[in-house]
Amino acid sequence: MTHTHCPYCSLQCGMTLARTGRSLEVQPWPEFPVNEGALCRKGWTATALRGHRERLTTPLLRDRESGELRAAGWDEALDLVAGRLRELRADLGPDAVAVFGGGGLTNEKAYQLGKLARVAIGTSQIDYNGRWCMSSAASAGNRAFGLDRGLPFPLADIEHTDVLVLVGSNLAETMPPAARHLDRLRENGGRVVVVDPRRTPTAERADLFLQPVPGTDLPLALGLLHLLDAAGAVDEEYVAARTTGWEEVRRSIAAWWPERVERETGVETAQLRECAALLAGAERVTVLTARGAEQHAQGTDTVLAWIDLALALGMPGKEHAGYGCLTGQGNGQGGREHGQKADQLPGYRMIDDPAARDHVARVWGVPADSLPGPGRSAYELLDALGTDGGPQALLVFGSNIVVSAPNATHVTSRLSDLDLLVVADLVMSETAALADVVLPVTQWAEETGTMTNLEGRVILRERAVAPPEGVRTDLEVIAGLASRLGSPVEFSTDAEEVFAELGRASSGGRADYAGITYDRIRAERGVFWPCPTADHSGTPRLFGSSFATPDGRARFVAVEHRGPAEPTDTAYPVHLTTGRVLAQYQSGAQTRRVAELPDDGPFVELHPMLADRIGAYHGEPVVVTTRRGELKAPARIVTTIRPDTVFVPFHWVGANRLTHDALDPASRMPEFKVCAAAVGLDTPSLVPREGYSTTDPATPSTTDPATPSLVPREGYSTTEPGIVGRVASASERIETPA
Ligand code: SF4
Repeated sequence: MTHTHCPYCSLQCGMTLARTGRSLEVQPWPEFPVNEGALCRKGWTATALRGHRERLTTPLLRDRESGELRAAGWDEALDLVAGRLRELRADLGPDAVAVFGGGGLTNEKAYQLGKLARVAIGTSQIDYNGRWCMSSAASAGNRAFGLDRGLPFPLADIEHTDVLVLVGSNLAETMPPAARHLDRLRENGGRVVVVDPRRTPTAERADLFLQPVPGTDLPLALGLLHLLDAAGAVDEEYVAARTTGWEEVRRSIAAWWPERVERETGVETAQLRECAALLAGAERVTVLTARGAEQHAQGTDTVLAWIDLALALGMPGKEHAGYGCLTGQGNGQGGREHGQKADQLPGYRMIDDPAARDHVARVWGVPADSLPGPGRSAYELLDALGTDGGPQALLVFGSNIVVSAPNATHVTSRLSDLDLLVVADLVMSETAALADVVLPVTQWAEETGTMTNLEGRVILRERAVAPPEGVRTDLEVIAGLASRLGSPVEFSTDAEEVFAELGRASSGGRADYAGITYDRIRAERGVFWPCPTADHSGTPRLFGSSFATPDGRARFVAVEHRGPAEPTDTAYPVHLTTGRVLAQYQSGAQTRRVAELPDDGPFVELHPMLADRIGAYHGEPVVVTTRRGELKAPARIVTTIRPDTVFVPFHWVGANRLTHDALDPASRMPEFKVCAAAVGLDTPSLVPREGYSTTDPATPSTTDPATPSLVPREGYSTTEPGIVGRVASASERIETPA
């Protein structure tokens, strides 16, 4: 029996792995406090990939003549990779080689990957897919509080808040065991407000549901703040004692009167006032944002607007109140702290800070001036691949770029321009299928390492079984490459040793792990950072008496609403938004291969009014088109989405061929969550014509005489009985231990 954690999302649910003969069974671990034994169906089926027929067990090299992948030995594969990287480095300089990591990698892997790039290769070109996940919240948190830790308090604290505002989060579907906190909050008399363009299973639990136009969470926050200020609900004492910048924000919200907010967001003034009244009357308010608010070209400003609201109410640092971000990927938190991000060194140190460079270089045993400076952010890095002056080789660990990158057709073409693409993975993902070299690596139950969950709790995943013959750990792959590249220092392959080195490198940094050890994690069921010394108890709650800014005060930041980078128009009249479904995780490389998890492929969710306009039937194919590509998938007709919006899940190839690559200027987050789209039947004549003006998408007509072919036919119903509005309640979706 081994206590460990789920391989998927940032909740990092505790579980027990038990061996019965040759099989490995998932059992509850009720004592682990975050999930108390509950798992979602992804967690219960997590061992299904062990022994899967598609598991990679030997390195593969692409034959230059036939173009096919062939089996190879480890030495042959690593020698080939290192040899080509050395040639590129000698010919074009170290930045000709790039490294791309993932928010699901353990802290040890993320740390070693950063060290591989900066020390063994010497490149500045490293970033990771977490840039596409929480970077806007990170950027806003650093600016407002001087520190980015997703939740500055344990998740269970929300049970005792009076009003919880969830902005762009569907936690009942994406991390079902966390939804129990919403139930307990309401049992305790608290109220839940959900802000989302879709009435999700989370919204089904809300006392108040606000359904804004995608991309307008920012003016919604400004409008609420306007009403709160007008009502005298601002905590002036807190603002004076613990913050700076309020007066500028107060001026900036003066013109966001409710009618203007309604025009911008589609949220009625009555609902806005109801929400403001709830907030004004509450002693403890908690605001949590997630990808719906953050994955925008204005994601940082959107989060800042909601932080401004929380600060105006005097909440951050108060018990059972404040602001937090619900991280998405398994190690979304730790993955952004220890050096696989283009601008960072371990311990959340900045790579352009001379003192940070000195400290980390000493730990690594190299001169500080040998470390490269900041590199390109994730999308910018991929966009530069194979171009003049851009990287010509890419090493990918823990990421399936072909599915998860925005504007994916363009990114895939960039991958094909590379001289060398190397992918380390456990199955043949869509990205691995394009690689010149595929390296088979261990999966979670076959290796040991730490993760940092959405609360900043550092937890330990213990090895439970031996990996298949022929498979190596990522740490072994990194070390093997480092030595072949002539690294001046050793790379350990022992996870506990790497973690101890990470602790030293993080010592004194913002994310200080120096006092955390594997034994402590085992004994304490996780340790919250910062934890600078062995006798420090860790820090479950932050900001109680001071923020992490130089003067200890939080920063209000005045922001302006610019709107989506690609507004709707006559050719592309609806908003496209993307997201997750319960049974799948991220790019689906793992969960799509688990037979017990439903995999119906992508679908297009749309409202009956929109379906009527285009003549779509439930279950029949429709085509979503943007300026970057198109996707054909079955229509799923529901009343739970805005009539001017379509939703496509992103776990399959296709959704991100549609998404926009506009970047947030601060976080470099792409605008995954909104772009302009057209939706029609799989018939060219139904694609909007050049210059064709549709009715206002917010109030679509079903009887437009100018377009008789789009009028629903006699006796036709766009929805199947029982489908519309039949969204399973979140309680149906939570699976608890038998
Ligand atoms: Fe895993 Fe589900 Fe828990 Fe996330 S919520 S950690 S996917 S069991």
